[in-house]
Formats: sequence, C-alpha cells, structure tokens
Amino acid sequence: MIKFLDLYKINNRFRDAFQESFSKSLDDAHFILGNNVTTFENEFANYCGTKFCIGTGNGLDALTLILKGYIELGKLKKGDKVIVPANTFIATILSVIHAELIPVLVEPNPNTYTISVDTDKAIFVDAKALIMVHLYGQLADVEGLQQIAKDFNLFLFEDAAQAHGAILNSKKDSSNSISNSSSISVRAGSLSDAAAFSFYPSKNLGALGDGGAITTNDSELVTVIKLLRNYGSEEKYTNKIIGFNSRLDDMQAAFLSIKLKTLDNDNDRRREIAKAYLNGIKNPKLKLPFYDGSKNHIFYAFVVEVDDRADFIEFLNANQIEWLIHYPIPPHQQEALRSFSHFNLPLTENIHKRIISLPMSPVMIDKDIQSVISALNTY
Ligand SMILES: *Cc1c(COP(=O)(O)O)cnc(C)c1O
Repeated sequence: MIKFLDLYKINNRFRDAFQESFSKSLDDAHFILGNNVTTFENEFANYCGTKFCIGTGNGLDALTLILKGYIELGKLKKGDKVIVPANTFIATILSVIHAELIPVLVEPNPNTYTISVDTDKAIFVDAKALIMVHLYGQLADVEGLQQIAKDFNLFLFEDAAQAHGAILNSKKDSSNSISNSSSISVRAGSLSDAAAFSFYPSKNLGALGDGGAITTNDSELVTVIKLLRNYGSEEKYTNKIIGFNSRLDDMQAAFLSIKLKTLDNDNDRRREIAKAYLNGIKNPKLKLPFYDGSKNHIFYAFVVEVDDRADFIEFLNANQIEWLIHYPIPPHQQEALRSFSHFNLPLTENIHKRIISLPMSPVMIDKDIQSVISALNTY
C-alpha cells in the first residue's frame, strides 16, 4: 500500500528531540504560555518575515481571532461583508460567521483553484475585508488581490493553513526565471494585514495535536489578540475584554520549533515529488495541477482532475494507492451552511466533483513515486 501521508514516518524522524523537549517540559512544569510558546512565536515570525507571531489553539481560532481583533479595535463591525473563496475548506467561512461578519462567496480561477481576480468588481464595493486562501499550498494571486484590497479599501487577510513557507517571487530553479527583479521574495504570512496558520498534524508544519498561529506587522492587533486568546487577560484574574481560551499549547510549541528547522527541506522534497509527477504522468484522462515551477507552491496536496472519479477511485484502490479528496462537498452545499445554498457557484461545484489528491509527503520514497506514475499511465 502506498500511503497518502505517513504521519508516523514524518514524526519519527524527530523522536529523540521530541522526547528530550518533553522531559524538559516535565521538569520546568510551565505548561501554559511558557517559554516554548514565546520561543516558537519569535522563530515563526522571523521565518515568515513578520514582526509578530501569536500562537493560538488551532487554525480556525487564528482566523476568527484576527476578525474579532479588528472588531475589538473598531476597524470592522458586526455585519460587515467579508469576501471569501467559495472553493475552500469550511474553516475559512466559519471564522467569518463566528466573528458575526457576513461571508460573500467568490468563485475560483479553475486552473489554480484560488480566488479569481476577474470577479465582477461590484461585489467589492460594500465589502470590508477579503480572505485569500493559499489552497493546496499554492499562493493565491497575491499581487492581484493586494491591488483589489487597495482599490476598494479592504483589509486583506491570508488563510495560510496550507502554505507554511510558500514564497512569492522566488526565482525559478531553471534558467528562464519567472521572477521580476524589482520585487523581493516574501513568504506566506507576510503578504497581507494578518495571516492565520494551522499546525494540524497533517499540515506541512504539523504539531502532535492541535495548534495555530497568527502572523502580522500590526502591533495594535497583537495587543488585542493576546488578550482575546487568554480570557481578555494580561494579568492573571484581571479581565479587560470578553476573551476566549485559545492558546498554543506549550508542549506543541516545543515540537513545532524542532520541526520548523526541517520545513524548507520538506517543502523542497514535496516540490521534487510534484515535478516527478508532472513530468512522469502522461495520461489524457487526468488533468494535472497548474504549477509555475517556483517556490510559490509547497504542495500540501497534489490534486488532479478526472471525469469519472468513481472509476478512478476503484483503479487507485486496486493498485493499492491511497487517496483523499480535498474536499468532497463544497461549503455552500454543506447542511451546516444551508443558508448559503442559494449561491450559484458552478465552477466550485464542478471542481468538487472532479478532484482527487494523490500521495504526497516529504518522506515518500522514490520507488513509490515511480509506482504511482507507472500505475497512473496505465489507467
Ligand atoms: C486546516 C485548515 C484550517 C483550519 O485549521 P485547524 O487547525 O484544523 O482549525 C483552515 N483553513 C484551511 C485552508 C485549512 O486547510
């Protein structure tokens, strides 16, 4: 069986370091918002190229706290409209609902799957914010969306839960550089007013449990989010605002610091596998993902499209190739979001019917990559 994602193997590489940090935490006995959180926050801000990072309980809370933070600061208000991609994991949309804002769902570019900048501009006129999602690990059309945010005076946020380490304007490995020499390379998390990350175990930077973070250069937002994540409290038992409990666990922060050192190598390996798939899979029945060859993609998922998915799934099962669908039902067709079911989103619906994700992980061995390629060429 070729595994979709071997979490055991991914994490077992760090077993000794994890055990050492666990022993140290047990000795220090400072379990909530201890030094490990502060250390990781500094390391991750530095990695992303932002001034600040605030650890949270998970990725959904990171998104929600950004929105709640700007409401607390009086810069967004209940009922404001927030543009979100229709083609996303439901958390993006839930965060807007939890913050008592109104999600406005927008169709994707069918090649990149990320929010389309060719959308009718009328919808931006009365919106206050836009959340771009770097879906499957590929940066959204950042420059196009930054321009829209500027033109319509919108807050721009990133859902970077699938894009830890993706780089805008990186040089292509080959000689025909796609980078514009006047622009500098910057990472996901530093491309907007504030970004949310998830460290759910399967993410490119995954903890051994739940975890999340916000990155930003806005010091006012940092102050209010630090209150919001901790019962509205700076000083124990003094509550300044109506807060939540959503702190990055101290032990998880220690594990994340260990894994962060390997993230760039892991992302390089994922891109190598993606390139092998893109060069090796030659089957007109499969539409391969768009990739410009740069580091703007970290291949959280390698997603192909096929006309007859049920038939293809049978084929993968028969060939012992694990697969997943990111995601089988679009958010607006979920029972939980039935009030959005009137949205007419044919591109999103079509994508959800056709997509399927192939095995992809930094620990995948060459033999398995070749087996997937050979098998798919006989489909
Ligand atoms: C994983 C994910 C989230 C949510 O993260 P959790 O840590 O599971 O709350 C949000 N958005 C996207 C795009 C994700 O992939």
